[in-house]
Amino acid sequence: MSKRRGFAGLTVLFLLTCVRVAQAAPTIRAMILTGESGGPYHAWQETTPYLTRMLEETGLFQVTVVTAPPAGGDFSTFKPDWDRYQVVVFNYDAPDERWPDELKASFEQYVRSGGGLVVVHASDNAFPKWTAYNLMIGIGGWRGRDEKSGPFWYFKDGRLVSDSSPGPAGGHGARLPYKIETRVSDHPITNGLPQVWMQVADELYAGLRGPGANMTVLATAYSDPANRGTGRDEPILMVISYGKGRVFHTIMGHDLAALNSIGFITVYQRGTEWAATGRVTQKVPADFPTADKPSTRAEYNPPAGWTSPTGAPRK
Ligand code: ZN
Repeated sequence: MSKRRGFAGLTVLFLLTCVRVAQAAPTIRAMILTGESGGPYHAWQETTPYLTRMLEETGLFQVTVVTAPPAGGDFSTFKPDWDRYQVVVFNYDAPDERWPDELKASFEQYVRSGGGLVVVHASDNAFPKWTAYNLMIGIGGWRGRDEKSGPFWYFKDGRLVSDSSPGPAGGHGARLPYKIETRVSDHPITNGLPQVWMQVADELYAGLRGPGANMTVLATAYSDPANRGTGRDEPILMVISYGKGRVFHTIMGHDLAALNSIGFITVYQRGTEWAATGRVTQKVPADFPTADKPSTRAEYNPPAGWTSPTGAPRK
């Protein structure tokens, strides 16, 4: 082999090595748990593939979708191997009686011993009377939650406050774009985000209640009384610790129309990495929304002709 060929060969080898490094296998094992919602308006069959793709596109996650049995289904053999995953993403909302005690205990053990949990939108409606689950999510709404579930939590004069007055938990107005205000900017999830940014048309959950223990509210949004709101700065992004486990909770993401938001996608990808590892290695994209303008990613647009599913209002 001539010297020149040898050099060329080495160059090719070097390039191949680079390609191999760039295509390194994703290292974070993530489960997306789905299979039930409070009604057809939370179409988990539609949203789960989008939530899956968002994690996969980062190159960081190896995603497994686990579909729980439906209402009336057989839970005796439903025993997810939680410990195989560094993070479990809930796109799931079921009533207290759905899970056998043993299943609840195994999930508590997983998070308590350091497993990550991500709570997306109506997943904070699930399990109103399961004490540990409510400690994990910090706050939740609907399914009969009231003052017995814990106080309301919101921001006032720049800090988190609570209100124990009686009343049901959970509300939202029409789905309109809304401004999100970053409240903690030195957390790995929010580090580098603008102080204020716009979410696309989505439900702005308000009046959630819960224990709020070990909870840090990273971002809030003003719930406008003109749109059936509370007049309060409501928690939008939260982190909670439960035992050794890290929880990231976003109230955004009602339907496909909310999921093409670069704001949603970015904090979901970053929040899931943080819940799994305690770190965020992903950069904030250059096209992140600004204070006045939401931004969207075309590949996550709803399919042509899609309309948001409707259904009987929840109680
Ligand atoms: Zn919703």
